[in-house]
Amino acid sequence: MTDNDTADQYLTGRPRSPDSIGPGSVSSGSSAPGQTGADSSAGTSALREELHALEVQATDSGSTAATRFLAYREAAYIALDLRDLKVAMEHALNCLVWARASGDGRSQVKAHVTLALAMMESYDDAGAQREFGVALTLAGAIADDRGVALVAINTSHFELERRNYHQATQPLLELLHSPSMGALLEPGAQQLWEIFHINFVVSASETLLAGTAGVSAAAHPPEIERQLAVSAALLAVRLEDRHALSLLDTAALLDALTRHALWTGELTVARTLADEHVQLTSNADFPLLYGRALLDRSRVSARIGDLENAILDAGQAVGYFHEAASELWEARSREQLAAIYARAGRYREAYETQQEVTHGVENLYRDYHQQRALVRQIAQQAREAEVRAEALAEAALRDPLTGAPNRTRAMQVLADLHTRAGQNRPSAVALLDLDLFKRVNDTFGHLVGDAVLTGVTRLLGAELREQDLLARLGGEEFIVILPDVTAQQAESVCLRLRDSLQNASWETLAPGLMTTGSFGVAVLDGEQDITSVLMNADRALYAAKAAGRNAVRVAAKQAGVARDMQPCL
Ligand code: GH3
Ligand code: MG
Ligand code: MG
Repeated sequence: MTDNDTADQYLTGRPRSPDSIGPGSVSSGSSAPGQTGADSSAGTSALREELHALEVQATDSGSTAATRFLAYREAAYIALDLRDLKVAMEHALNCLVWARASGDGRSQVKAHVTLALAMMESYDDAGAQREFGVALTLAGAIADDRGVALVAINTSHFELERRNYHQATQPLLELLHSPSMGALLEPGAQQLWEIFHINFVVSASETLLAGTAGVSAAAHPPEIERQLAVSAALLAVRLEDRHALSLLDTAALLDALTRHALWTGELTVARTLADEHVQLTSNADFPLLYGRALLDRSRVSARIGDLENAILDAGQAVGYFHEAASELWEARSREQLAAIYARAGRYREAYETQQEVTHGVENLYRDYHQQRALVRQIAQQAREAEVRAEALAEAALRDPLTGAPNRTRAMQVLADLHTRAGQNRPSAVALLDLDLFKRVNDTFGHLVGDAVLTGVTRLLGAELREQDLLARLGGEEFIVILPDVTAQQAESVCLRLRDSLQNASWETLAPGLMTTGSFGVAVLDGEQDITSVLMNADRALYAAKAAGRNAVRVAAKQAGVARDMQPCL
């Protein structure tokens, strides 16, 4: 697996458009009517194997984040091809997680696009549009031109799948006028370039055809026609090289050029292309490509006035999509068939076919709601997992008894302050050890001791500024971290803390209970490493104990010797 853009093109266009592989295709796809000699399940079982291999790779904890991102992205696309939306959604979410972990902005752009496509297939249009928006903003922010192009092309794919042809031209035209278009000419962007033109030819041809049919009154700039001619000519050249192309690419080119020929009125050309499309896909591994080709040819025949063949092809497509359990496409083919029956004056059949469409649409609605519910559930689980992960990360930095930040957290903060101190912004730290705490336990019991530790945390925490940190290092030992504070200021803060400890009333906890603490202050000025600073503070703390406890001592700067230190210590 390489990180070129081949996965991005999933589907950015018709090529491997997910609807070409419908739900249920795994079990029922091989019995396509009219299909000769093709084992249409071979494609799907090969895909399943590929998916499995990628899942192994994606979950390998020994791999780098970048590798796992790639594996999840590829896996999401294959799951989409297999129409396994739940799996696709899970992989797309993980793809984003690992893209973030890799720290690579371009990967994150790609991951948001992948997630958008998974949501789009799950009919979560709002979600898909949101993800496209995030991807575009991010790509713009990091000047990722190929990312910008990728989003534009996939946004047009999104509209194409909904048959919003006019809207599908918009992002492509915008891209055409933006500097990001240059990214499509770079090495490795060939596939993206091709899909740009395929999507443009499909969307522009259909927009113009709808205009002539009076279906859509949407005004279109003359530029659409100009660019359509250019893109169609480029695709025609590509098609000449068809032996070097994959089946999916060829099918997409044939499909696009057929539509273009319909627009230009070259009906014989359209028919030849449509025939080739049917011929090509009749032996395809992907069961539903064939149905789409039949449907396209039916439309061309109807255009020519060959209603007989138009009805035959559309009827065959209906049966084919029905076999493959692709209800959306079955409904679309029936609609087309009903329209052709009506044109042929076969009104009774038109009526009956239309009735079946209505019936099919009801099933579609049911499917749609079931799928939405499923996908919403996955998204919810993902959010909960994220919250749980945050909670775990948060818990890992807290002391469970008192709820105060723990040693790990204190060390993180000290590391930051040490860096800052190196930039001439010193801070102060103080170690606090409660006095004769063993006696508290011995006299009042361990539970009371615990309550005092929690109470001390609350009491002293309330005395400190927002930016200060009181952490429990363990036992009855704490650290007070005071950013941007001098030794003198720290000393007076600790004196205040000492007083508030001494004056605190623990009467409600246990009559006669009192607690005091000893403090050792040191400065973190960037000249000494954190360990040395903590040793200085520790020595000062022992000096405070030696001075009779309930006291504050400041370490003599650099010397590692506390002021007022008793010689015996
Ligand atoms: P000093 O003033 O010299 O520090 O005397 P001390 O008794 O506080 O010191 P020492 O290190 O001998 O004893 C600390 C005691 O703190 C031992 C233990 O009973 C108590 N302690 C440590 N962790 C906890 C805790 O989580 N809960 C309770 N209740 N007591 C604890
Ligand atoms: Mg102690
Ligand atoms: Mg103690």
